[in-house]
Amino acid sequence: MKRLFILCLLLISIQIYADELLTLHGNAIQGGILIGNIHENIEKVFLNYEEIPISEHEFIIGFDRDEKLRHILTLVLQNGKMETIKFFITKREYDTQRIDGIPAKYLEEPTEEELINRLESESDTLKKTRKKLYKNSNIYFENFTIPIENGKVTGVFGSNRILNGIPISPHNGYDIAASEGTEIKAMSTGVVALIGDYFYNGKFVLMDHGSGLSSIYIHMSRICVEKGDYVLKGDKIGEVGSTGRSTGNHLHWGVGWKSKRIDPRLILNNKKLFLTLKKY
Ligand SMILES: [Zn+2]
Repeated sequence: MKRLFILCLLLISIQIYADELLTLHGNAIQGGILIGNIHENIEKVFLNYEEIPISEHEFIIGFDRDEKLRHILTLVLQNGKMETIKFFITKREYDTQRIDGIPAKYLEEPTEEELINRLESESDTLKKTRKKLYKNSNIYFENFTIPIENGKVTGVFGSNRILNGIPISPHNGYDIAASEGTEIKAMSTGVVALIGDYFYNGKFVLMDHGSGLSSIYIHMSRICVEKGDYVLKGDKIGEVGSTGRSTGNHLHWGVGWKSKRIDPRLILNNKKLFLTLKKY
């Protein structure tokens, strides 16, 4: 009898799964990501009419800090039929962080020609590398972990910043202060897309998690991986430091989906069901 009950449950759950055309999990909010699982009959997915790579019936989409709220997802089935889903994401309010008394050298824009050339070349290399990874349709990530577990959070995503009374660009990452040498872990599985020692970033690691998802870890004292390395979630990639333009030992952890800036804190909490579309 018990076995029959389990069998019935199993059949019901298979039936439910087979009926689903799409499920979206994550945070439908500015700075959030949604992970989609689709029925095997779906051939293509478009977000706002732009094709999204699919890997093993899964895809990811993300929303920028100030992303528009209305979106259209289009699913193209093998039989040529189309399903269109319109949805809204939630608007966010961001805090303002005021810091005074920062030494001027941390805020000045460089004027020497040699340094300007260096900055241009560094920014160019980063842009080119990012563009290349936007096109990678593989999905390496499965789930996510925080790069430093017991650090002190000193900066959150999206906050407007006023330094010494002057507004600067909003903060696009998550800052975790920890002592020099503290281990920094990869937030998820992926490939090391770029490492370097740049003027602003200091020693950094940029990781490609597939399908446009990337993470960057900056101001390290030591880098423990090489470009091209395949790294598993939680593997050590470097150590905390204060290299580049940084006022103290901390990790600035940034997450991106294509050119959009994603809130690292939200990526850790992406299991929430947002939407289910049943097969008609
Ligand atoms: Zn930061």
